[in-house]
Amino acid sequence: MAAWSGWPITLFLLIPVGTAVYGRVRDSSSVHPINPARDGQRVLTCCSAAHLAELQQHYRRRPFVNEELWAMKIDRAMRQHSHRLTNEQLIRETGLNLIQLEASATWRYRRHYDIPKSAGEQ
Ligand SMILES: [Zn+2]
Repeated sequence: MAAWSGWPITLFLLIPVGTAVYGRVRDSSSVHPINPARDGQRVLTCCSAAHLAELQQHYRRRPFVNEELWAMKIDRAMRQHSHRLTNEQLIRETGLNLIQLEASATWRYRRHYDIPKSAGEQ
């Protein structure tokens, strides 16, 4: 597969060797580059326990949105293919169903155009 450049390389360069602290948080904006079992988790690399606690607090306050996680899974599948995927292929590649594909597309559209949910919608 294509090289994945999502890791915060600069963090590793800025933190002196042996002093980094690591943590893991739930985050619907994060999917693992190759392992779907780790989707929805973000690994944090920090310079100190205090900074790690601050970042963990940030992610605890951030809403976990299933539609966002599904959109990230779709994006990963798209990145792994040079051609456009059909819905059937996307379902096979992501493990999502058609309802989830549509819900994530709606979420993305609303987010892009900043459209709030109407009253009564979940
Ligand atoms: Zn830090």
